[in-house]
Amino acid sequence: MTILLYNSLTRKKEEFKPISKDKVGIYSCGPTVYDNPHLGNMLPYIIWDVLKRYLLSQKYQVEHVMNITDVGHLTSDADAGQDKLVKASQKTGESAWDLAKKYSAVFFENMNELNILPSIKYLRATDTIREQIEFAQVLDKKGYLYRISDGMYFDTSKAKNYGQLGNLKNVDQRAGSRVDVNPDKKHPSDFAVWKFSPADEKRDMEWESPWGKGFPGWHLECSVMSRMTLGDTFDIHTGGLDHLTVHHPNEMAQSQAVTGKRQANYWLHNAFMRVDSGKMSKSLGTGITLQDIKAKGFSPAAFRLLVLQNHYRKTLNFTWESLEAAQRGLVNIIKEIAFFDKPALGCPDLEADFYLQMADDINSAKGLAVLQQTIESENPTHAKLCAVLKMDEVLGLGLKELRERALNLPPGAQELLEQRKLVRQAKDWTQSDKLRDKLSELGVEIRDTELGQNAVQVKL
Ligand code: AMP
Ligand code: ZN
Repeated sequence: MTILLYNSLTRKKEEFKPISKDKVGIYSCGPTVYDNPHLGNMLPYIIWDVLKRYLLSQKYQVEHVMNITDVGHLTSDADAGQDKLVKASQKTGESAWDLAKKYSAVFFENMNELNILPSIKYLRATDTIREQIEFAQVLDKKGYLYRISDGMYFDTSKAKNYGQLGNLKNVDQRAGSRVDVNPDKKHPSDFAVWKFSPADEKRDMEWESPWGKGFPGWHLECSVMSRMTLGDTFDIHTGGLDHLTVHHPNEMAQSQAVTGKRQANYWLHNAFMRVDSGKMSKSLGTGITLQDIKAKGFSPAAFRLLVLQNHYRKTLNFTWESLEAAQRGLVNIIKEIAFFDKPALGCPDLEADFYLQMADDINSAKGLAVLQQTIESENPTHAKLCAVLKMDEVLGLGLKELRERALNLPPGAQELLEQRKLVRQAKDWTQSDKLRDKLSELGVEIRDTELGQNAVQVKL
């Protein structure tokens, strides 16, 4: 199957050609663990999980790596402001280490609830400080770094093709020029590789280095970890659209400066999620979390469906109504497939069109449309069920388990069903309807077929 991916590096869809024939390396920029992640922070990991599941369905082995940023990500992506963990620590009184531990746990919990495959190799920034210093030493030896008052900076004018990624055509557009930056920098786009600890402040997280006590610049960890795990050049690098103009060009420049090679061949970026057409942000009170939606009775799978109904390169506007519609849609899918028979023998191929749609830059919206059409098609129900479950191995809504849960009826339901069977044989439709109502009170829904009555109770 020809797989097309939109590559931000060339700004076009390209045929995906992995470095090795049957193995793909993916590096996903991970979370900054200073607070509860909001839904927008989790969205990318759903998308990259579907990308990975799709590649697995096409018989590739996938090695997936992700960083956990627990130091060095400043409130502005371009080296200005405070370390996000230090800021949170000052606000809450908890140490940066404790915060990182606490919010990493929340992140992993969210990943699990969103049914993201656990086969990801995670690396923490604070666990790779030695490797980051060694990498920066190579940059220094090669003459890419210069010292100013608050740190060691990378001279972007020395980098080959700086800004090709992000299409940063001129110096004013370059990363860093939008915000208050250290005026000592040689160029607005230069970025910190090592930041010095402030002279008057003892940081929770700081390390000795050849340049002085301090901590790594945020971009460094991804260059280092991706190289440690996937090599000098790997296949796919992913991140949110916010990374396209600062973090990723900087990462790429550092990596290329050290190895002389292109860091990754395909750079994929997800568009942002907004709330009621505004920014999803914790400080604005629009940072809705997975816990928030669960508290209102929505399932993580409904959120996953909402995300996948949209193509990942289109902005997704979150509203409660859209989440409600997604949850209704999910319940309907579960009901339909719960009424389908289990495949007896074999499993005919009804899902070819699904793989084809997904091959077009992971078009999950079209993939879901194929799933819906399959449910509604005239094919035998066992064949439809088989195909839907295969599609869901890629979409990851967890339909197999949800179907099984729906078929697991509450206590008392089975007896009512038996009684109803008898009264229907006696053609006592009044009693039959009464028993249907009783079952409905238990949350059980019945569909009468030629073969008898089928019953389900959807539990999300
Ligand atoms: P962070 O924890 O802030 O580093 O964000 C985790 C990931 O989510 C990064 O890849 C960001 O690019 C991405 N991201 C942050 N906010 C949003 C949003 N509103 N919509 C989609 N992706 C986002
Ligand atoms: Zn990164």
